[in-house]
Amino acid sequence: MMIFRLGIGLFCVTALVGCLADEKKFGYAAGYGKSYPEPVVLEMPTNAPSITQQFRSPLAVSSLNGIEPHLGIDVHAPIGTPVLAAAGGLVERSFWGPAYGNQVQVLHAPDSSGKASRTRYVHLKRRLVEAGETLTRGQQLGELGVTGFLSSGFPHLHFELIYRGAALGHSSADPHLYWAKGAGKITCWGPEWQGLGDDELRLTYPVPCS
Ligand SMILES: [Zn+2]
Repeated sequence: MMIFRLGIGLFCVTALVGCLADEKKFGYAAGYGKSYPEPVVLEMPTNAPSITQQFRSPLAVSSLNGIEPHLGIDVHAPIGTPVLAAAGGLVERSFWGPAYGNQVQVLHAPDSSGKASRTRYVHLKRRLVEAGETLTRGQQLGELGVTGFLSSGFPHLHFELIYRGAALGHSSADPHLYWAKGAGKITCWGPEWQGLGDDELRLTYPVPCS
């Protein structure tokens, strides 16, 4: 969960408790929220750990009532679950901060546009990589956790995509647009996805499917 105001965080805890009552551990993908303008149609594998909150663009929701931006997707899984690089790249940052706890940021190779994208992995229990390390797709970079006050005490991975971003922390995009199988087609990691070219960004799921 990544939110802008602490007060909203308390609201999210309440909402998530409601979600968890009937949530499945695998194969569940939360909706985008009523009146979100352009939700991505999702194909969620039945063996993928569930997504409890979707990306909501600050640009898309700024003029609407009752929807808060969310700069990534939240994947719910037990504390200690391996967190995997969604594509190969270079560890750009690996550090702890009060809001997002342990976090790792990976810089990916430039695509055909010549621009590079980044992925961020937030609220980790442990970071297993340091800045400067090179990662292959699917390589474990940390363990899922509940660190940072924006985790609201709810074990999950906040997974964020900074698409073709020129500056850190800007240009977040919906990761669902860039799965290896295609937009909306959540793609579990497997060795068959190793060796994809860099002509376009193609992501694989950042936690293992069962
Ligand atoms: Zn989040």
